[in-house]
Amino acid sequence: MIKLGCHVGMSGKEMMLGSVQDAIRVGANTFMLYTGAPQNTKRKELSELRIDEARALMRENNIEEFVVHAPYIINLANCVKPETYNIAVEFLGLELARTEAMGSATLVLHPGSHVGEGVTAGVDQIAKGINSVLTKDTKVHIALETMAGKGSEIGRSFEELAMIYDKVVYNDKLRVCFDTCHVSDAGYDIIHDFDGVMNHFDKLIGKEQIAVFHMNDSKNVPGAGKDRHENFGFGHIGFDALMYIMNHPDFMHVPKILESPFVKDPDNAKKSYEPYQYEIAMIREGVFNPNMLEDILKEANSF
Ligand code: FE
Ligand code: FE
Ligand code: ZN
Repeated sequence: MIKLGCHVGMSGKEMMLGSVQDAIRVGANTFMLYTGAPQNTKRKELSELRIDEARALMRENNIEEFVVHAPYIINLANCVKPETYNIAVEFLGLELARTEAMGSATLVLHPGSHVGEGVTAGVDQIAKGINSVLTKDTKVHIALETMAGKGSEIGRSFEELAMIYDKVVYNDKLRVCFDTCHVSDAGYDIIHDFDGVMNHFDKLIGKEQIAVFHMNDSKNVPGAGKDRHENFGFGHIGFDALMYIMNHPDFMHVPKILESPFVKDPDNAKKSYEPYQYEIAMIREGVFNPNMLEDILKEANSF
């Protein structure tokens, strides 16, 4: 069975136990969480995360693995402000420890933005940051995410990710998070030629390095460099191209995570509804439902 899940929250009193409950509620058999708000570095103590209860619930429900995403504010590539870089390195070390304690093997990381200093300087800084947190005993993998290329983001090309691999000492601890929206936005034609794109990736990095997929559709055309996710099958990548990747025999064992936008209520700007239960059911079914977004709104408004 495909390992299919979505981004779930982790907050309140339930913490990680609530994350697992959310994953089960939407029919997922894997999931991804942030250890706190993605925009800041405030984090609870490990003892407050309810890890043991969460792990027990995972076992009961045959959820074998999940992934952790580092917060966006970690920008290792920042060569302009040393304090930003220093905070990023310190926080990354703590995130690795938390990821291991929670029982996940994969920490997804945006490589960072060079904010004007150029790709080479940015890559050097990223590798320096990663080299200062990884040791030969680190158990967790850092999965560098493929980026859309907005602003000065590094990781918009496979070559840029390969440059980071080249400069990291313990690069056996590196992996890749392949985000379909980002890769398409960066200009790779995964719609018509996923295998061609993957051949190119395989030559530069190795396809076995992909530890997680972010299975996102895109609001924009290939090469737009924008990074705006769309609901599964409703964007420019489309259902068939996404399902081809979903069912690709080379990646059956790799967790596939949805990071879809919530569906906005047209009658109430303050309300939006989580699509994951519907998207996961549709993907498991294998048939596109062009009325899915309407169905979500109808069901939400029937209460
Ligand atoms: Fe991400
Ligand atoms: Fe992503
Ligand atoms: Zn994105």
